[in-house]
Amino acid sequence: MPVYVFSCHDCGPFELSRPMAETGKAAHCPACLREARRVFTPPGLTRLATPVRRALETEEASAHEPRVVTQKLGRPLPQRRSRKPP
Ligand SMILES: [Zn+2]
Repeated sequence: MPVYVFSCHDCGPFELSRPMAETGKAAHCPACLREARRVFTPPGLTRLATPVRRALETEEASAHEPRVVTQKLGRPLPQRRSRKPP
């Protein structure tokens, strides 16, 4: 769900996650419950904490382009001793 930025006249900006179908609906400030106006921001530039933003980007990317594993992770298996033929 996209995150939209709204601004309350008294309390300042806040973010709200809502379905795109409700984009045009009025939002209410979570602190004072007054109606807030939407602040238009370029996509991807909302003020999310960096770890949250990275997690969302990773989740979004893995939905349509899963990472390809090219290497086995972890330590290698111990070498098998070769049996000498009798
Ligand atoms: Zn407010």
